[in-house]
Amino acid sequence: MTRQDAPQIAAGRLPAGEIEQNFSDLHPAYDGHEAAVAADRCYFCYDAPCVTACPTEIDIPLFIRQIATGQPDAAARTIFEQNILGGMCARVCPTETLCEEACVREAAEGKPVEIGRLQRHATDGLMARPEHPFARAAETGKRIAVVGAGPAGLACAHRLAMHGHSVTLYEAREKAGGLNEFGIAAYKTTDDFAARELDWLLGIGGITLECGKALGRDLDLGALREGFDAVFLGIGLGGVNALGIDVGERSGVEDAVRFIAELRQSDDLAALPVGRHVVVIGGGMTAIDAAVQSKLLGAEFVTVAYRREKAKMAASGFEQDLATSKGVQILTNVMPVAIHGNGAVREVELEYTAEVDGRLTGTGETLRLPADQVFRAIGQVLESDLGFELSGGKIAVSGAGRTSVDGVWAGGDCTPGEDLTVVAVAEGRDAAEDIHATLMA
Ligand SMILES: Cc1cc2nc3c(=O)[nH]c(=O)nc-3n(C[C@H](O)[C@H](O)[C@H](O)COP(=O)(O)OP(=O)(O)OC[C@H]3O[C@@H](n4cnc5c(N)ncnc54)[C@H](O)[C@@H]3O)c2cc1C
Ligand code: SF4
Repeated sequence: MTRQDAPQIAAGRLPAGEIEQNFSDLHPAYDGHEAAVAADRCYFCYDAPCVTACPTEIDIPLFIRQIATGQPDAAARTIFEQNILGGMCARVCPTETLCEEACVREAAEGKPVEIGRLQRHATDGLMARPEHPFARAAETGKRIAVVGAGPAGLACAHRLAMHGHSVTLYEAREKAGGLNEFGIAAYKTTDDFAARELDWLLGIGGITLECGKALGRDLDLGALREGFDAVFLGIGLGGVNALGIDVGERSGVEDAVRFIAELRQSDDLAALPVGRHVVVIGGGMTAIDAAVQSKLLGAEFVTVAYRREKAKMAASGFEQDLATSKGVQILTNVMPVAIHGNGAVREVELEYTAEVDGRLTGTGETLRLPADQVFRAIGQVLESDLGFELSGGKIAVSGAGRTSVDGVWAGGDCTPGEDLTVVAVAEGRDAAEDIHATLMA
């Protein structure tokens, strides 16, 4: 059965205008005066803890001082030198667990300098200029294949192009951007920002983008190694963990990442079907995003069901509070044990859990939640190991992204580490520097 056979999953649960309002920018841009006031709160700390907390190590006090002294374009350059996707990161970074958590004003007053919004102020300004802010070095004659056009691949390709190398960027989908384009919640990146940022980034020159080319389907690693001087893989995590219970043939049980991708590609959210009773299984950012966006589309009852306690959820406190503020219920210490319904899902049966000697077990007590749409959001995995040595289910790397295969680097979600946009950017950039140093030695 498909979703179309499930009448309880319906489009247009709210008037189009209300849906549009619901999906407006989560943190609207500052105007010049607001930015000046926010920048003024920075103490310009020596050995600033906010810098250490940023995976891309942006010189935060410097860029805030540049804003405070009326040089927003210089501030943007300071950001982009470290993080070419500084515009997207300003919108999507969980700053509450990174730079803003480390800010001394957070510790002193519980109110950090709003670093993310200041970063957005600076980067938006420079990105609106017609010319790309960086020039390429003289051509080196070296050719590098970058596979995967998500944040890791894009950051790597840009840095390599800046050093004068010639990059071919292969992307499996018909559209580049990775999860910036297909995953991030719609209210964090409005007005087609991901696509605009991609065009802007490619403005450096020296990068040929080839969409619809997947490694393992259309491309062969051996041929890439022979045809190029180096290869970088930023292929993310395309596979999804199984739910671990029998869903049978019932319609209405879906993968949250696929739902979000469909939502992100929709140009009419009022036409996107959603259930009345939605249950999301999981506790990470994907679970929260699927739940919040279902609610914003008009689902009446939305529950996130997570198997451990709240403090162990991968979604940050801010994300959890955002979900609660939109009317999402977060149910903790429960795990799914059965899906009920004849043809279409009708109920999810959950069992309460307890941790005994660090191990999670069911208590035997259960509850049933009405559900006409159930989203699996229990983590993503590598689609294929492609013959690489793995570590924790991801491509094992040493140093700045060197894989077990000579001449092949990797970074971003497909390698060990935190699955965050800013981490992917840092790893792509650092691998590019290592590739450059290796090829030019
Ligand atoms: C729903 C969701 C919401 C998220 N929200 C946030 C957030 O708010 N903030 C945050 O910091 N992080 C968030 N993340 C995490 C963040 O999106 C990722 O950490 C980041 O996108 C990883 O970048 P990447 O380049 O490694 O992988 P991806 O963004 O996944 O890009 C990988 C690219 O490689 C392509 N590809 C895959 N296999 C092949 C192949 N064989 N050949 C060629 N191309 C291939 C893919 O199509 C894709 O374009 C979220 C993730 C999800 C799933
Ligand atoms: S820690 Fe806070 S106050 Fe200090 S430099 Fe960073 S943003 Fe400014």
